[in-house]
Amino acid sequence: TKVTEFIRQAEGRTLFSIEIIPPLKGQNINELLNSIEPLMEFKPPFVDVTYHREELIDRVGQDGLIERIPVRKRPGTVGICARLMERFHVDAVPHIICGGFTKDETEDVLIDLHYLGIDNVLVLRGDAEKSAGVFKAKQGGHSYASELVKQVHDMNQGKLLNAETEMWPTDFCIGVAGYPEKHFDAASFDSDYAHLRKKVELGADYIVTQMFFDNQKYFQFVERCRAEGINVPIIPGLKPLATKKQLTVLADIFHLEFPKELVSEVEKCATDKDVRKVGIEWGIQQCKELMAYGVPVLHFYTMGKSDNVAQIARAIF
Ligand code: FAD
Repeated sequence: TKVTEFIRQAEGRTLFSIEIIPPLKGQNINELLNSIEPLMEFKPPFVDVTYHREELIDRVGQDGLIERIPVRKRPGTVGICARLMERFHVDAVPHIICGGFTKDETEDVLIDLHYLGIDNVLVLRGDAEKSAGVFKAKQGGHSYASELVKQVHDMNQGKLLNAETEMWPTDFCIGVAGYPEKHFDAASFDSDYAHLRKKVELGADYIVTQMFFDNQKYFQFVERCRAEGINVPIIPGLKPLATKKQLTVLADIFHLEFPKELVSEVEKCATDKDVRKVGIEWGIQQCKELMAYGVPVLHFYTMGKSDNVAQIARAIF
């Protein structure tokens, strides 16, 4: 089932969903699946699974010289999707990324997803390799998420890249990312909105936002999108704050600003256990306000931890 169809069927009721990250290479998949089992109580119709590009790591080669080789630290997105659907009977939403892939490799992944009966993909550019700092497309790959949206949309029209055969048509529902606090690479808010609009014009059916802790940022984002003629559902992405360190780590990685009120609450905390409580309380208030605003889905970045998400969900659903 398409994410947009779940939203339509909910008739204004707010849905619950989560994102999970594949385990580090080769680690136990059951641990990941067990960790989200308690969240199934809140009936997520879909679960997102992130995709990760390779990182370049230095290794000593046979000749004793250091060589730089690409290693994917978190493989397994497609397999995890299959396991999720089998175990929890939810729709899996794999992320697909430009970085590290040629268009042909992406086409093959999309065919795998199609054969697995997956109806949704979240289409992203992907992050830069940590060692590189700036995003660089692979030769023969896409530079922007909008180009990958077009590839999926073309496939939905039955068009393959170099096809001599007719394909079994896909009908993927396409999600894309949006940034209430602006994407860090974007020269301005104006250009970021223009690029987001382009993704929708090329075929995106819904938007999921980067995490934010200040609902005003989300409300302003939605208003501006509507003013720009972006009329697809906008799903807020949420993460409960769990440690004091996250105030700087999340701000740095995701380029976001924490509301002063939240920072001052966290600064009063003696331990991270107390911070976790503040994070849950903040999350509950955020979610209540978002629900009153009429958001279609509350989408949680679990980052491997589910107890705080469960406490928030229990308080609001
Ligand atoms: P784009 O939409 O391509 O935008 C990237 C930047 O380029 C923006 O600044 C935009 O304004 C600009 N831009 C777009 N088009 C043009 C153009 N034609 N000319 C000039 N500039 C342009 N990363 C992963 O690696 N794996 C994941 O699974 C993953 N999941 C995510 C899920 C969500 C909900 C979100 C919000 C992010 C996720 N990310 C993931 C991170 C994401 O890949 C990064 O934020 C990345 O830097 C941007 O991706 P994008 O799809 O928004 O890129």
